[in-house]
Amino acid sequence: MQLINSTDAFLLASEAIELNQSVAKVAYIVAAVMFVLSLAGLSHQTSARRGNLLGIFGMVLAIAATIFGMMMSGYLGMVIAIVPAVIIGAILAARVPMTGMPELVAMLHSFVGLAAVLVGISSFLESGIDVPESEHLIHNIEIFIGVFIGAVTFTGSIFAFLKLRGSISGKPLMLPGRHLLNALLILASIGLGVWFCRVDSSGVDSSGMVPLLIMTGIASFLGIHLVMAIGGADMPVVVSMLNSYSGWAAAAAGFMLKNHLLIVTGALVGSSGAILSYIMCAAMNRSFISVILGGFGGESSGPAAEVDGTVSEFSVQETVDLLDEAQSVVIVPGYGMAVAQAQHSLAEVVRILLDRDKLVRFAIHPVAGRLPGHMNVLLAEANVPYDIVLEMDEINEDMSSTDAILVIGANDIVNPAALEDPNSPIAGMPVIEVWTAATCVVMKRGMATGYAGVDNPLFYKDNTFMLFGDAKQNVDAILNKLRE
Ligand code: NDP
Repeated sequence: MQLINSTDAFLLASEAIELNQSVAKVAYIVAAVMFVLSLAGLSHQTSARRGNLLGIFGMVLAIAATIFGMMMSGYLGMVIAIVPAVIIGAILAARVPMTGMPELVAMLHSFVGLAAVLVGISSFLESGIDVPESEHLIHNIEIFIGVFIGAVTFTGSIFAFLKLRGSISGKPLMLPGRHLLNALLILASIGLGVWFCRVDSSGVDSSGMVPLLIMTGIASFLGIHLVMAIGGADMPVVVSMLNSYSGWAAAAAGFMLKNHLLIVTGALVGSSGAILSYIMCAAMNRSFISVILGGFGGESSGPAAEVDGTVSEFSVQETVDLLDEAQSVVIVPGYGMAVAQAQHSLAEVVRILLDRDKLVRFAIHPVAGRLPGHMNVLLAEANVPYDIVLEMDEINEDMSSTDAILVIGANDIVNPAALEDPNSPIAGMPVIEVWTAATCVVMKRGMATGYAGVDNPLFYKDNTFMLFGDAKQNVDAILNKLRE
């Protein structure tokens, strides 16, 4: 009788686990559909809010389904992991300023990379998943590739974080023979992969750990080397590329854990990150392959041209007079507008100028600020109408027929050296050609360089006038005078 009771209890428990897992699978499918719809929503400003909400719902559903699916096998571990993570994440997200977002994103990518490495190593030591004999080779390949991508992402993201934060120099590190070194590291990893897959890894013999750990060290070095070789104005591409790598690392972890949602989500992040990197490379006239290979072909044949001359200044009143007389005005915002948080006052200035029947438009460079779409987010926050916010390609040819340009806290994205000096570190990068307009006013605090650390000949041009000071204070002063 006792035996029958315990058998019944076992059967009941097994059925409950199966039911839980089926419910979790259905929830995973719904969450995956939500993620796809979320990405579709994020493709346009007007639907971005809905896209974000769908992404949040999808993620909440995915986490709930994972916890529900784990109930029977013990949820204490989940609680211990999730509760502090949610608290730390919420505090960090609430505290981080908009200008610190790329650093936070880089740090989060590093976590995904580290997770893929740890999942790979633990899958090898004790899989926790029954892998049939015939699938051992495939499982080993999944582990090896997952750990490789994870290690590159982990160290690459940490060094990207340090560069974005300014803790290490943003200048590209050009080691002699660096491409050969990269090629040798990749070849060595492939060799170690063959060794790893040949070793019996059924759990009885764990000698495969040796090639796995050596490869982890090599991939970690490769991640550092790839990111250190890229610098200055090309950093946005690095961030979106690491975003893509983190997606592939998550997908690889999904294969190792046989978790379909992780595979789908990882593939979505991986492919959308790769598409974004490609678009940014095209916008910046950089070869996608060159950037992936660590700045291939980025060498210049000589030193950049010296930049000097006389700087002409404008006062707030002179800027207001210029705006009063101008019929067409283009505003070029950059990182400094984000630092100063000048977007709200600027939106007021724009409203006044529009009320006075002037043609006022914004010109947005694809890498303005410190994260893709940074300026669009700030202007949307200040309720600037979308139809006057134009991409660089849409408005660049109108610059020469514009009466007045206001450059607010932008520097690299309006640097003529990109087009005029073939030895400049930003040579070839398309920029907003503000110097072709009748008059250009540049608002910044001093003569400091921008993110790429390159001097800007724009400030010395005859039709350029500097309005020095904090962007918010100067825009407020302009607003007050316009109201008078
Ligand atoms: P830059 O970094 O080139 O220049 C910003 C300028 O703003 C500085 O020269 C600074 O000059 C000025 N500034 C800073 N604070 C203030 C303030 N409070 N008031 C007024 N001015 C201020 O910015 P851009 O937007 O022109 O270019 C973006 C750069 O960042 C590019 O090189 C891009 O590649 C890189 N980048 C972009 C990322 C992205 O995803 N968009 C990610 C990572 C890097 P001063 O100190 O004299 O005031």
